Amino acid sequence: MSRVGGKNTKPEIAVRSLLHSLGYRFRLHRKDLPGKPDITLPKYKKVIFVHGCFWHGHEDCPRSKRPSTNEEFWREKLDKNIERDKETVTALKKLGWDVLTVWACEVKDTNKLKTKLLSFLGR
Ligand SMILES: [Zn+2]
Repeated sequence: MSRVGGKNTKPEIAVRSLLHSLGYRFRLHRKDLPGKPDITLPKYKKVIFVHGCFWHGHEDCPRSKRPSTNEEFWREKLDKNIERDKETVTALKKLGWDVLTVWACEVKDTNKLKTKLLSFLGR
């Protein structure tokens, strides 16, 4: 399980190397953009977040199941993350950026991931 906002997580690296192999150029963790997107493609005005299913609350995903102990603690903490993610997307869209979220559980299937990335990037 990766920390919130952890940089260079395994799924993130997988997405980066796939994008790289597809010939895309991108920048990492741009501090001047809301939410410091994991991957920024300035040429396309698009950003990609690679989210851990648990910390960012991937809906209907077995990996995002919340612990049954300290329920209130987790609810508060995780709901806050989800709320912040929503605000980040709204802020980025206002600035004219397209936003894609890749979930950690989607990274294992390279073909599916590739399709998802290519359809987002419009190729
Ligand atoms: Zn998931």
